[in-house]
Amino acid sequence: MTAMLEVRGLTKHFPVRRGLLRRVVGHVQAVNDVSFDVNEGETLAIVGESGCGKSTIGRTVLRLVEATDGSVRLDGEQILNLSTDAMRDMRRKLQIIFQDPFGSLNPRMTVAETLAEPLLLHGLATPDTVDDKVTELLRTCGLSRFHAQRYPHEFSGGQRQRVGIARALATRPRLIVCDEPVSALDVSVQAQIVNLLQDLQAQFGIGYIFISHDLAVVRHIAARVAVIYLGRIVEEATAEALFAAPRHPYTLSLIAAAPRPDPTIRDGTEPVQGDAPSALAPPSGCAFHPRCPMAQEVCRTERPELRALGATRVACHFAEEVVPETVAIQTTPTAPSLQRRLDVLQSAALKKQSAT
Ligand code: SF4
Repeated sequence: MTAMLEVRGLTKHFPVRRGLLRRVVGHVQAVNDVSFDVNEGETLAIVGESGCGKSTIGRTVLRLVEATDGSVRLDGEQILNLSTDAMRDMRRKLQIIFQDPFGSLNPRMTVAETLAEPLLLHGLATPDTVDDKVTELLRTCGLSRFHAQRYPHEFSGGQRQRVGIARALATRPRLIVCDEPVSALDVSVQAQIVNLLQDLQAQFGIGYIFISHDLAVVRHIAARVAVIYLGRIVEEATAEALFAAPRHPYTLSLIAAAPRPDPTIRDGTEPVQGDAPSALAPPSGCAFHPRCPMAQEVCRTERPELRALGATRVACHFAEEVVPETVAIQTTPTAPSLQRRLDVLQSAALKKQSAT
C-alpha cells in the first residue's frame, strides 16, 4: 500500500553567518536524512527534547522552511519542487495547528473573518455561502454561531485552540501538522482537544503529524511514534511496541524522565543526563554517545544506521542488548503525573463513548 505522505531523506541545515561580510562559518544540522510515511487517517507522533528538530521536520514538510535535501510526496506528488502557484493549491491539503493559538490568530479579525479567509481564498465558499460554512465549521469544532463575531482575546485557551483547529479544517486538508497543540492547555482541556482531533480524524480521514514532548498524550493519540535525537530518527515503532518494549537507550531515558512518586525508589532507569550537544557540531559516531549509559568505543566512531529490529526501526549498535526484563520495568508508567494524565484522557474518552 502506498502511503498518503512519503518523506524520504529529509534534510534541513541552517547556515550560520558571521562577520561584516556575513560569511557562512558553519551549518546547524537541524534535520538529517529523516524518512517516514503517514497513511490516510493515521497519526504519526514525533517526539524528542526541545531543540531536537521535531518542529523543523513539520515545517519543512509543509515548506514553511525550505528543505536542504530530500523528498516529500503527498498522494504521490512531489511537494518540494512545486512552483509558488502550484504550492498555493497544495497548501489547501496541508495545514498546521500551532502550540500557541493566541499567537497564530490575528487579534484584529473576528473568528468569522478568520475562518472565511481560507474558504474564499481556495474557492470553497462564495460570499453567499461563506456564513453557513463558517457556522458549520464552528459546530464541527465544538463552538457555536454565537462565537463567530468574537475576537481571539475573548476566548479561553481551549476555545482558541478550537478556532485554530477550525481554521486548519476549513480547507479540508489531507494532512495536518499538529505542533505541540495541547502543551499550553490545562490537562482537562487537553483531553477535550485530543478527543476533538481524534473525532475529526475519524470523520474526515485526516493524517496527523503530531509533534509533542508529552508521552502521555502521544501514547493516547498516536498509532506510530518516531523518536528524534539531534535531527535524526533514532527509533520508530507502533505506539504499542514503543511503550511496551523501547529498543533505544534515548527512548528509555525519555520515558524515565517523567517524575516519580518516590524519587528514592530506583527501578534501574535514569532520565537522560546533561544537555543535548549542539547541532552545529554534532558528536562523531552515534550522536547520543556522550550521554548514553551503554556507550562503547564503537559508538564514538561509527554512526549506527536506522535498521529493522522486529517491527521496530532503531539506530543503535546494541539495541539487541536492551533486555526485555529491564524494559518491562522501565516502561511501566509508574510516574504519577504520566499515569494521571493517561487516566484523565481515558476517562474523557469513556465519558464521550457513553454519551454517544
Ligand atoms: Fe548508546 Fe552506542 Fe546505542 Fe548510541 S549506538 S545509543 S551510544 S549504545
